[in-house]
Amino acid sequence: MAAGAFAAAAAGQTIKSDSDSSSDNHAGVTPLASSHDANAAMGVGGNDTTTMASSRILPADQSTNASAEVQKLAETTQITADRQAREAEAARKAAAEAARPKFVVPAEGTFTSGFGARWGTSHMGIDIANAIGTPIVAAADGVVLEVGPASGFGNWVRIQHDDGTVTVYGHISSYSVSEGERVKAGDEIAAMGNEGQSTGPHLHFEVWQGEGGEKIDPAGWLAEHGLSV
Ligand SMILES: [Zn+2]
Repeated sequence: MAAGAFAAAAAGQTIKSDSDSSSDNHAGVTPLASSHDANAAMGVGGNDTTTMASSRILPADQSTNASAEVQKLAETTQITADRQAREAEAARKAAAEAARPKFVVPAEGTFTSGFGARWGTSHMGIDIANAIGTPIVAAADGVVLEVGPASGFGNWVRIQHDDGTVTVYGHISSYSVSEGERVKAGDEIAAMGNEGQSTGPHLHFEVWQGEGGEKIDPAGWLAEHGLSV
């Protein structure tokens, strides 16, 4: 009886196993057939369809990944190179910015008249004489406040600097900036002339402590910034 029971149990298990196997097959047929079909479609023979399918698919995946990796690396290298170039350019500009003069004498020439009492009146600037057309440059960084005709000055350019100080360039024969334009120290803004109340070609240069503010000695202002005229 024991052996019979065992046999029955074994048979039951076998049947059960077959049944499981059958239901497994029912669920598992599609992927197996799929792999086989894939191999068949690729013209690959052999019974080990899973391995063959994998070995056909894997290299393709790897080569796709490798290609993507190479592309990614190239892009990363390019990004790094671009960043380094930008940093080098920024450093070069920063060095140039640090090295450039922030204040300059506004024209080359002969210092012919200082600030203060002159001919029974007050001379509110300094005069630098040179040939007509001699370049006149911005004495410091700033924004052009005004260009054009001005009583006594012929034509002038006025620039407001970052600290509010206004510089004035008078008797000019022409100007090459416009109102609102940002200029840097040393940028050419005008050409020397003999316009207005002038006894010979020269630049009349004034320094105002702000728009409409007190007119101070330009020679002293230039000296404060390490310059002499
Ligand atoms: Zn003058």
